[in-house]
Amino acid sequence: MQRQHQEFNKIESDNPFNNALAQLASVTDMLSIEPEYYEMLKSPEKEITVSLPLKLSDGSVSTFIGYRVQHNNARGPYKGGIRYHPNVTLDEVKALAMWMTWKAAIIDIPFGGAKGGITVDPKKLTLDDLERLTRKYVNAIEKDIGPESDIPAPDVNTNSQTMAWIMNEYSKLKGHNVPAVVTGKPVELGGSEGRISATGRGVAICIRESVKRFLQKDVKDVTVAIQGFGNVGSFAAKSLMEMHAKVVAISDVFGAAKAKGEKGYFEVPFEKLLEASNRLGSVTKIPGAEIISNAELLELDVDVLVPAALENQITEANARKIKSKIIVEAANGPTTPMADKILESMRVKVVPDILANSGGVLVSYFEWVQNLNRDHWLEDEVNGRLESKMVRAFKDVLDFSEKQNCDLRRAALVIAVNRVVSAMKLGGWH
Ligand code: NAD
Repeated sequence: MQRQHQEFNKIESDNPFNNALAQLASVTDMLSIEPEYYEMLKSPEKEITVSLPLKLSDGSVSTFIGYRVQHNNARGPYKGGIRYHPNVTLDEVKALAMWMTWKAAIIDIPFGGAKGGITVDPKKLTLDDLERLTRKYVNAIEKDIGPESDIPAPDVNTNSQTMAWIMNEYSKLKGHNVPAVVTGKPVELGGSEGRISATGRGVAICIRESVKRFLQKDVKDVTVAIQGFGNVGSFAAKSLMEMHAKVVAISDVFGAAKAKGEKGYFEVPFEKLLEASNRLGSVTKIPGAEIISNAELLELDVDVLVPAALENQITEANARKIKSKIIVEAANGPTTPMADKILESMRVKVVPDILANSGGVLVSYFEWVQNLNRDHWLEDEVNGRLESKMVRAFKDVLDFSEKQNCDLRRAALVIAVNRVVSAMKLGGWH
């Protein structure tokens, strides 16, 4: 495995799958797995590409490309979100699918890893077109998804409405109601209480635990900047503000809003920030805030930086300019492997994505369990279970990193890969 470990040193790219492979290669010196398992884990088990021709409301016809990638199901059915974005590529979906395998293993739920996506700018389609595109996609991948085989969920630019369409189309094809085919549904259709806020809430729990451990501070005494104000970023901000942390800046694709005033953090209630950003179309329109760029947000002098948008935001080019002491990766793959090395040399603690944002898949698992049992849990029960599983996973990773004297990403990855390989061996995978 020495050769694989050396591969890690050569790779720096904006291709997320290369980065996912580099991360895997980076732990081969710490893994006690046979090379054939490493080879199996490097490639997804199945890659599906579908062509989706669609007559749009304006009468024109466009063909969209959709993907579903199933990385590994040794520990349970494939599980992973669906992303709608103009930059979706097969390699991006492959990386996200691999990260899902590690994520389910680290938070210790019986799922494997998958991901899906359509290369589309949803802002350019009407809601009607988006619904028909979603239904076409379901028809194209119907045989590969299902409550026992592969369970999609929301990701960037998809939400509970998208999941409702998927559930409805899939149920029509099966001839009966199948709520457990997707998670992140509206509560009225069998969605779980607390699912919408789960990823952000889990991120906030990781922040609370990491500042306690690494800065010996209470979360109410730390400053935080959050890049991305979508599902994950906004609910992370909400939970942090409920914990009385000092959120100093938030951002979206248009730019960032930095709190003005003596205190230097947002004092208005979270609901007001959200309402203003929704009503005015961007956080950059929030009255009274200073507008800065997303790049400037990443370089703010804060205790904790939370990238909650897309991949490759912290790279070799800007890693040295990071001033925060802790980075909690709410997004998937926001830090490249080369940036990781730079941050490690600067002693910045990086709480990796596969741990930090695993609250979403965890509550997705709770939703799936409730659907299969025709049950409905109260929000307090969901949040209580989320809290204890997140704290446990955080502690597992922290303890391992201290014992092995390695960074948190490698610690999380080693734990996850060992769990997956153990399941593969027990199942007799060759
Ligand atoms: P979302 O679509 O709800 O929000 C994305 C946010 O990022 C928006 O505010 C958007 O304006 C902003 N953004 C987009 N491009 C940007 C750019 N170039 N610079 C700055 N901001 C930009 O998506 P989400 O569901 O919140 O997902 C965000 C990240 O979290 C993704 O990496 C996703 O894979 C990951 N994630 C999501 C979940 C979930 O439950 N939704 C779970 C785990 C991980």
